Order: sequence, then structure tokens, then C-alpha cells
Amino acid sequence: MDVDEERPASGAEAQRMLVQWCLSAQYFSEAELHAAAERITGDAADELQATVESMNGALGPFALALRSGMEQTTGDRRWAVVSTSADPISALGTPYPPATIAVLRHLLELVVTDDGYAIGLHHAVREAAAKCPAATTRRVAEDIVQRLADDGWLTVESQWVGVGQRACIELQPYLADAYPDCMKTCCLCKEMATRGIVCAACAEVLHPHCAERLESAAALSCPACRQRMANSESFGPHRPSRQKSETPL
Ligand SMILES: [Zn+2]
Ligand SMILES: [Zn+2]
Repeated sequence: MDVDEERPASGAEAQRMLVQWCLSAQYFSEAELHAAAERITGDAADELQATVESMNGALGPFALALRSGMEQTTGDRRWAVVSTSADPISALGTPYPPATIAVLRHLLELVVTDDGYAIGLHHAVREAAAKCPAATTRRVAEDIVQRLADDGWLTVESQWVGVGQRACIELQPYLADAYPDCMKTCCLCKEMATRGIVCAACAEVLHPHCAERLESAAALSCPACRQRMANSESFGPHRPSRQKSETPL
């Protein structure tokens, strides 16, 4: 701890301040959480797990919890304050009008039930406009989709719309409940996968980041069945090797 810095708060006061910080930040990187925890409590980074456990103890009575998920392409860990209520999509950290929540529900359904886990942006905007009576122009519908992407619920890349990392962290129970047959889990890290590659031999999937970690050896082989994954089909937004005839436009 730097002695020149303001003395960190201790005990219950520090915990209250950190809970407050999480509630206002809502969705943040692990680096941001480390920095806030160190600034407020003076705890070293290696005490983060204990800090998270104690915060979850404080958040529990409010049906909230701090959960994390790995960003599937970069491998960075992100955290979110999530609702543990029965319908987490109605209790999102970001307050949206009901029509925007209806658009999010609908677009998540379209993406998750799509074979390739992505839908074209123009298709998404058309669907958003149809779901939202207030979206009187295409521009308004585009803005709704973009806002959902900016807030981390969806991702828009190269004209494809996919599931955002925040939805993987906050809405996994909702998605697993609503679309149990559509869930994919990375066979290396065991976290939910909404992008990556599929083993042609055994159909297990790998995140892009997890495939990269294994690829240091000249050839990538499937952690589940040990077969070479040379011609693996990819899924999720921005998937150049995908063979589906559908075009994003
Ligand atoms: Zn993984
Ligand atoms: Zn395999």
C-alpha cells in the first residue's frame, strides 16, 4: 500500500463503499474491480476472491450477486452485478423501457436459436422495428439495437449481431431455462460459449480465446476427442469460415 495515499476505509465501511461502487458501475472489467477494491479497502489484488465473497454476502439479501465471465475472444474477465430473481431479464442492471426489453428478448431468441449463433444486422433492425411500436423509423430501431450492443447485451460486428458478454454473465440462467437445447459450453474452460469453433468429430465447442491457447502447438486438436480441428466450423458473429449461404445483408 502506498503510504502517501489516503488511508483506506476498513471493515464494514469499506465493504459498503465497494458495494456502492459495484452498484453504480454495474458491468466492469476485472482490472477495474481490482483497482476499486485496492483503492477502497487497501487489499492486495490476491485478496479479490475474499472481497467478492464478502460482497456477495452483502448483496444476497437484495437478490443481487456479483458474477463474472470470460470475454470469449480476448480472455479478459468481466464482472456484473446480476439479479438472482426468477426473471433476471425484467430486472436488468440497465433501466430500459418495456419495448426495449421486448426487443432484447426477441433478438436474443433469434440469435440463440440460430444454428450459427448470429443474425444479420439488417434482419435484427427489421425485427426490432416490428417489436417496438415506438420505433417509427428505421433509425429509431437501429438506435435501440446499437444501445443494447453498447451496454453489452448484444454485440454487433461486421454486420452480424450476436450475444453480448454481459448477457452471458447476467442472463445465462434465463437463456438456459428458455432455450436449454441451444446452450453451448466450451469444453476447455466450461463457461457458456456464444462464439468459437465446433469440433467436426464430436461437436464439442471451444471459445476463440481457448482455441488460441491450445493452438501454440502446430495443430489444434479437440480437448474432448483429440481429433484434429483443422476444418472446424465457426459460430457466433463475424465467422468467416462459416458455410451457410445466408449473407449478412
Ligand atoms: Zn473456453
Ligand atoms: Zn472433438
